[in-house]
Formats: sequence, C-alpha cells, structure tokens
Amino acid sequence: MAVIGIEEFQTEVTSFLKANAEEKPAEERFVWGRGSDKVSMFEERDQAAEQAALAAAKSWRATRFDAGLGWITGPDEYGGRQLSAAYQRAYDHLESLYDVPNQSFFLIGLGMVAPTILAHGTPAAKAAYLRALYRGDIVACQLFSEPGAGSDLASLQTRAERDGEEWVLSGQKVWTSGAQYSDIGEIIARTDPDLPKHQGLTGFIVDMRAPGVEVRPLRQMTGGASFNEVFFNEVRIPDDDHLGDVNNGWAVALTTLMNERAAIGAGAGSGGGVGLVVRAIEMTRAFGLDDDPLVRQALADLVIRARVNGYTNQRALDRIRSGQTPGPELSIAKLASTQLSMRVSDFVSRVVGPKLVVDTGEWGTYAWAQLVMGIPGLRIAGGSDEVMRNIVGERVLGLPKEPGIDTTSPFRDLKVGTQTQSA
Ligand SMILES: Cc1cc2nc3c(=O)[nH]c(=O)nc-3n(C[C@H](O)[C@H](O)[C@H](O)COP(=O)(O)OP(=O)(O)OC[C@H]3O[C@@H](n4cnc5c(N)ncnc54)[C@H](O)[C@@H]3O)c2cc1C
Repeated sequence: MAVIGIEEFQTEVTSFLKANAEEKPAEERFVWGRGSDKVSMFEERDQAAEQAALAAAKSWRATRFDAGLGWITGPDEYGGRQLSAAYQRAYDHLESLYDVPNQSFFLIGLGMVAPTILAHGTPAAKAAYLRALYRGDIVACQLFSEPGAGSDLASLQTRAERDGEEWVLSGQKVWTSGAQYSDIGEIIARTDPDLPKHQGLTGFIVDMRAPGVEVRPLRQMTGGASFNEVFFNEVRIPDDDHLGDVNNGWAVALTTLMNERAAIGAGAGSGGGVGLVVRAIEMTRAFGLDDDPLVRQALADLVIRARVNGYTNQRALDRIRSGQTPGPELSIAKLASTQLSMRVSDFVSRVVGPKLVVDTGEWGTYAWAQLVMGIPGLRIAGGSDEVMRNIVGERVLGLPKEPGIDTTSPFRDLKVGTQTQSA
C-alpha cells in the first residue's frame, strides 16, 4: 500500500505531466461554437489515421509507464505502484488537464482483459502480457460474441481441443471491437461439449497474428468500421495461455463482463457522462431555450442523473481498483449510464429537430447525428438492457431465475439459444 502521501504523489504527477505534455489552456475548455463540433460514440477514422493515432497512444503509455505511472494500482512485480484507487483518481484528474493522445485503444485491454489475466492467468501469462499491456506495447481485444451467442454467451460454439502442450482453436467470433489493431485477444471456447453448456468452456489468450486468424471489418450505420468478424482456422495456442481452470471458462468470462460493465458504467467508452450534459446545456443557451421551463426541467433531470451515476460508478470502480471482485451491482451502473446516454440523445434530438438529419452547415447541429446513431450500441454492448435487468432481478433483488433445463444437459444435446449471460 501507499508509501507516498497523496500530496507528494500529486506533485510527482504534475511535474511528470509538465515535462511531457502541454497543459490545456483554460479557454480551450468547451465553448459553444468554437473549434470542432464533432461528437461521436465510435472513432470514425481511416486506416492511416488510425495507425497514427495508435502510435501516439502507445508512445504516451510507454512514457507514463517508464515514469512509474503506467499502472498505479497494480502489483510491483509487473511494474505497478501498489497504490490505492484514490491515487488513480488523482492521476486521472491531473492528466485530464493536459493534452495527451487519445487512449481509447486501451479501454478493452486494460479495462477488461488485463484484470482477467491478473485474476485467472498462469504465472507465465501474467509475466508475458501484463507489463506489455500496461506499457502499451501490445493491445488486446475481447473475443466473446458469436453469430449464435451474444446474450446467450454460454451457447458459443468455437472449439478448442488439446494437442499435447498446445490447444487447437477453430470457429468464428463477431462484433470484435478493435480486432484490426489488436496483438492479443481474450477468447472463450468450448473445450468439452459433453458437459452442460456453462461448464465445458475455457478461457484463452490468443495471438491475433498467429497463422489461421483472419480479421474482417464490419461497417456500422455511423459509417466507420470499429467491429470485426474474426475467423479461427486451427489456430495453435500454448497451454500457458489458458485462463483459469480448464472447463471453468464461465468464471473467467464473468470476470471480464463485470469489468466491462464497470468500464461502460464509468463512461470510459462513451461520451455519456457529464461532458455531454454540459454540451447539451451550452446548446440550449446558444439556441435561446434556457428560459423554457420544460427544457430546464429536462436538463435538470440529466444533470441529476449524471451526478448520481458518477458517484455510483466511482463506488464500483473503487471496489475493482482496491482488488475486490466486481459484483452484480455493476449491472446497475451499466444500465444507469446507458439510460443517461439515451436520455441525452432524446433531448438533443428534440432540441435540434430536422437539422439532425440534414446538414445545414450550422455549427453543433448535424454533428450530433454521429452520436445519436452510435448511442443505441451502448444498450447492447457488454450485455443488453434486458439482460442487465434480468441480472439485477435475479442476483440483486433475489427474484427467481428464468426457467430452463439447459443448465444441466450436455451441450451437444442442446438446441442452442435459450439462456442468457445471467445464468
Ligand atoms: C458497441 C458494441 C461493441 C461490442 N464489442 C464487442 C467486443 O469487443 N467483443 C465481443 O465479444 N462482443 C462485442 N459486442 C457484442 C455484444 O456483446 C453483443 O451484441 C451482445 O452480447 C448482445 O448479443 P446479440 O447481438 O447476439 O443479441 P441477442 O442476444 O440475439 O439479443 C437480441 C435481443 O433479445 C434480447 N434478449 C436476449 N436474451 C434475452 C433474455 N433472456 N431476456 C430478455 N431479453 C433478451 C436482447 O436484449 C436484445 O434486445 C459489441 C456490441 C456492441 C453493440
């Protein structure tokens, strides 16, 4: 735990940031009508721009890591500082005052995959991947969903079969965010179809550049291609790269999913937090609507939700950062954050009206369309709203589980597609 006081730590971070980044001038903080009006859920870049942004992001992470600030709450054997979540928060706040390269490339790797490797990886896997992930030397993606297994994740059919000291992986994943630039992926595969569907799964780390891995981009309605289909054709994985016990992959998947909900709930992957609400307030001022009682009421609702979500998410994140296992209550944080984003989207759509769908050239109007088209994805990613409600009902409120016989039958006897991540 802490061997440095928080004030001393803040001084250290400030001098690091001053030496390595430009402070954002106060007047550059959000002013309606000034600068770019781009606001979106997904990064919409061509390949060259994506590669340039990735190189800048990696370089910043390496600089941070080499200064001892790359993994503030992590164990020191992998380059961590072993400090509490309060120090992480202090760092995050101070860094937000400086212009640093966009770090969204690392959201999945550091938010979901690395905590899973820390919890379930073999000593060899921890040594091989954790430092490299936190230093930004490698990027990771999450290979869970399949064409026939999303909410019903335990119905996945990608197979891994043992062959001596290796596993041989074959099958297809889909909706894999960032697979196009990832070096490794966390994958859940079926290792024993004779066991019930939640019991015959195993987690692995797969090399995304290995022979037999094929990544094909999928274009979404916002125009970009953030997702991919990923095909595995007899891809070989060393046994050191399995996660958790063989056939206990469901526990591995749950660790990742809980961290994913925490990351989404914290607004890490979205613009769904206070920033968007501030933008919406400034827009109503610019449009002369700030005296309208109905507009004010709607805005007050957004502000209150953003504040309450912020505290809820902070509690959830603090639990994770202090080494506690994330609990099902994170589903509440994910659900609340998604609902706030949807409300912001509805509010903006009503205020902007037809200018949301026709580009009149007016600053801050048509630009919202990218965000409005991207936000529904939040209701699905990391577990859909309906699945979150099932989890809250069953695990938080203690309501009876959804009926189903397929938790006990061997997977190979099942007609797949009848159970959810909550099972
Ligand atoms: C932005 C985004 C990023 C993503 N990134 C990744 C990624 O990096 N890696 C990855 O593996 N996957 C990723 N996904 C996929 C995501 O995990 C799945 O889309 C999600 O789990 C839902 O699965 P599905 O699409 O198969 O929908 P389905 O499971 O087929 O659901 C269809 C509809 O049925 C409802 N439904 C399903 N079961 C129940 C139930 N029991 N009770 C009530 N309603 C139910 C759902 O709520 C939904 O409305 C991403 C998705 C999005 C949108």
